[in-house]
Amino acid sequence: MVLSNGVALSPRLLAWLREQDVRLMISLDGVGTPHDVQRPLINGQGSFGPVMRGIDAALSHGIVPHLSITVTAATADHVAEAVDFALDHDLPFNLNFYRDYANTGDARAWRADDERLIRGVRAAFARIEARLPRRRLIDALVDRSAFDAPHTRACGAGHHYLVVDHRGRVARCHMEIERPITHVWAEDPLEPVRTRGEGFHNVPVDEKAECRTCTWRYWCAGGCPLLTFRVTGRNDVKSPYCHVYRALYPHVVRLEGLRLLKWGTPWGP
Ligand code: SF4
Repeated sequence: MVLSNGVALSPRLLAWLREQDVRLMISLDGVGTPHDVQRPLINGQGSFGPVMRGIDAALSHGIVPHLSITVTAATADHVAEAVDFALDHDLPFNLNFYRDYANTGDARAWRADDERLIRGVRAAFARIEARLPRRRLIDALVDRSAFDAPHTRACGAGHHYLVVDHRGRVARCHMEIERPITHVWAEDPLEPVRTRGEGFHNVPVDEKAECRTCTWRYWCAGGCPLLTFRVTGRNDVKSPYCHVYRALYPHVVRLEGLRLLKWGTPWGP
C-alpha cells in the first residue's frame, strides 16, 4: 500500500502501481476549502485541485484509490461533504481522527473537541444512511476500530507492521516516518520494530486498566497506541478519543444493520 497526498502521481508511478498490484491510499480531508486549509501546497496554495487530478489519473490507470479522510478541528464540520464525495465516486474510504504529530505546532488547535467531532461524524453517518452503499463500511467509520474479528491491538505497529520511506528507511509507524529505526537492507528489519525500547508500546487492550471491562474493547482495542502515548505519556491507558468512540459505536453498529437489511451482503461487492 502506498500512502500519498495525491498531488504528484506521475503516469509512470501509476503504471508501476497497477503492474505490481500495489494499492494506493490518497488523503482527502474535505471538498474544496476544508481540504485546502488542512493541506496547503508548499507555495501556500490549496492542494484540492491537484488531488482531484491525481484521483482522476489513478482511475484512468485502472487504480481505485482508497480515500483517507482525516478529521481535525479544521474539517470536523465538513466530514459529511467528504463522505458524499467518496459515495458519489464509489470510492472506498475511512475516517481517521487527528493524531498529534511532531510538526503540526499546537496540537490542541488541530484536535476537534469531542462534541464537535461527534457531531461532524454523525452528520456523515446521516449522509450514509440516506443512500446506504453495498460496500461494507463499518470498519472505516470510527478511526482505527475494526469489526471484522475480535482483536486486542488497534494496529500492527510494533509487531508485524513497518513503514518504508523513499530512501528505504524503516519506521514503526507512518506517524513516525521521520524517526526511522532501521532500513530495508537490514537482515531482519522487523526485529528492531518489535523491540520494546523507549516511546510507545502497542500493548494488548487487556493490559489497559480502563479498557479491561469495556463492552467495545475487542473492536476498539484501546485506540491508536502512538496517540495515547503522545497525549498521556503512558501506554497502559485508554485512548484520548475514548468518549468519542463510545458515543459513535452504537450508531455505527446501527448503520451496518441497516446496510445489511438493505443489501444482505456482509462484505459488500
Ligand atoms: S472505548 Fe475507551 S475504554 Fe473502551 S476499549 Fe476503547 S479506549 Fe478503551
